[in-house]
Amino acid sequence: MIGLLDIGGTKLAAARSAEPGRLQNLQRTPTPADPAGALASLLDRAADGAELDAIAVSLPGPFDRAGAALIDPPGMPERWHGLRVGEDLGERYGCPVVVENDANAAALAEATWGAGRDAQTVVYFTVSTGVGTGVVRDGAVWHGRHDTEGGHQVVWPRWAGGPPCHCGGAGCLEALASGLAIERRFGVRGEHLEDPEAWADIGRWLGLGAVNAIALVDPDVVLFGGGVTAAWDRFAPSLQRTIAEHLHLQPVPRVELGSLGEERNLLGALALGAAALAAPVR
Ligand SMILES: [Zn+2]
Repeated sequence: MIGLLDIGGTKLAAARSAEPGRLQNLQRTPTPADPAGALASLLDRAADGAELDAIAVSLPGPFDRAGAALIDPPGMPERWHGLRVGEDLGERYGCPVVVENDANAAALAEATWGAGRDAQTVVYFTVSTGVGTGVVRDGAVWHGRHDTEGGHQVVWPRWAGGPPCHCGGAGCLEALASGLAIERRFGVRGEHLEDPEAWADIGRWLGLGAVNAIALVDPDVVLFGGGVTAAWDRFAPSLQRTIAEHLHLQPVPRVELGSLGEERNLLGALALGAAALAAPVR
């Protein structure tokens, strides 16, 4: 049995699973200001007395991969910063704990059980408060030296007037097309944004982000998910047109919404946990 956790800025989720692609005892709760005991009590409810062979956790970046700890993820309450998730859970449950950032977990879930399941290479964009990316090749997350940060690819350079990004740079995709950027640029949250021109603009920036990812990675499919994609129908035409107009040497791959919905981070954690249990002990 694998215990699963999804740590987010506004909500926590947990489940247990004993079979591929299936979650049991799904639990959700708002993220409390104080993390003490919050993860264990949710995981206890999800486990419902079953002994856990491993725990797999989806958590927001930036995080310390080696130490399985949060660093200072934007949007998380202050007292969560620095939380040593791996150590705390490992001590309490006496089993291995694996962690992955939420965009990578979502990418892995889509590549394993979702809209990317028949693809060799999947690029996934999560567009919510921020913009995150994950790349999965042959069923494994591609990490590079650290993690992909496709939300901070520069699509409008500082020298050409690109707006500042909270990362310290300017003109990042995240500064133009994330939930926070939509609020800053258009004065309303994405769910209240009606202006078709604004959505066309958002689609152009996200399309450019996809063009750059396609040029570098040449994936079979580019998938989108996250809160802002509730408005997919409003910005997808402009996104698709931007890709078609800017990609000249590669055929346009499938570009579409992911298919797994809000359980995808837990499903990604499940794929990660199952792989960890199947791997030889090092
Ligand atoms: Zn940035």
